[in-house]
Amino acid sequence: MSLCDQPGLTPLEQALAHLAERVSVVAGVEKLTLLHADGRVLSEDIVSPVDVPPTDNSAMDGFALHGEGSSWNVVGEALAGHPYMGPPLQPGQCIRIMTGASLPKGADRVVMQEYAELQDATLQVQQIPGSGDNIRRQAGDIRQGSKLLTAGTRLGPAELGLLASVGVTHVSVIRRPVAAVFSTGDELAEAGQQLGAGQIYDSNAIMVVTLLQRMGCEVLNLGRVADDEAALQQLLAEADLKADLVVTSGGVSVGEADYTRRVVEAMGELELWRLAIKPGKPFAFGRLQNSWFMGLPGNPVSALVTLHQLGAEVVRLLSGASPHERVRLPATAAEDIVKTPGRLDFQRGVYWLSADGVQAKALPRQNSQVLSAVAEANCYIVLEQERGSVIAGETIVVEPFDGSLRGMC
Ligand code: AMP
Ligand code: MG
Repeated sequence: MSLCDQPGLTPLEQALAHLAERVSVVAGVEKLTLLHADGRVLSEDIVSPVDVPPTDNSAMDGFALHGEGSSWNVVGEALAGHPYMGPPLQPGQCIRIMTGASLPKGADRVVMQEYAELQDATLQVQQIPGSGDNIRRQAGDIRQGSKLLTAGTRLGPAELGLLASVGVTHVSVIRRPVAAVFSTGDELAEAGQQLGAGQIYDSNAIMVVTLLQRMGCEVLNLGRVADDEAALQQLLAEADLKADLVVTSGGVSVGEADYTRRVVEAMGELELWRLAIKPGKPFAFGRLQNSWFMGLPGNPVSALVTLHQLGAEVVRLLSGASPHERVRLPATAAEDIVKTPGRLDFQRGVYWLSADGVQAKALPRQNSQVLSAVAEANCYIVLEQERGSVIAGETIVVEPFDGSLRGMC
């Protein structure tokens, strides 16, 4: 422990390592058409059943030539989907060919239309291309029998396009983990209701549900529960029966009405609590009878940051998806940033590319209930646990918001 560490707080890296050790992929696979497989995780490697491209073909609109020479006789044409069906080209012969059309036998190069001149059926070429020029070779992209994608790949538009390019119609994917979500707190009201004395609207439920969905979970929204030990226990037990992962928000701090930890400890085991991160210190993780438990702090920014930094890892492990590196970049602090040593900070900030490289600044309202600053931000400014305040001009680390956090593509 360094001088700056706060006693009893688990560093983020240690918490992530614990999750990796404990959580494993859910059981069950299903076979889906490509159209239904976006965002899903492959349960097996995929080997290409064909060569891509299936034949040598032209990379240009132009003429396919047989060898070198000075003039060629045009004996036919080939379009994409309409190969030349004549006999193999002989010396002095060529065909007109379009991009993507199969190369006829006997042709060994393609000249771009712009470098050739056609008079009647005779072609003159100013610059003779080298052997093999402007030809896309059979299997140049993918060879039949080669591994195309590995188990654990999360499928997106590019991977689905790749699968379609080899004629795959269905894929075997891992079942989506089921997450049950509810908020805790006597003060919470649902949007649309009149706020009573001391009430606030529940902002965590919608954030947690949508973020978990974007991470690939099937989500059961179980609503809200009051700060009441028996009611909490009942809802946790119900959630535990239905889900692989139970995610609550609120009630994991040290306040008088913070019952969640106690109830989880009675029902199962609390494995992590209190992390050396800001926001998000009261994050809790544990095991219920059948499912994993994640207790997010009640403050909305803390809930979002912990779900995004730690919950994402739990969901990835449950989903069977391969690890992926978070993108973190060096940037120059455009302004001073206030920080107290002791916890790893995820300040909400903006970064931009200037003539001098990437610059970033923290937004002014860093309190853990201020959601407006998250909506305004495009990155976290990740400040090391032992670091103190930052002076403008120092190098800092930014983590651009990924697709799961952004409101737009
Ligand atoms: P707790 O962790 O339950 O002590 O809550 C910490 C702070 O977050 C309190 O100010 C709560 O009112 C607030 N809070 C808890 N849950 C929510 C929620 N679902 N939506 C908005 N604020 C919440
Ligand atoms: Mg509470």
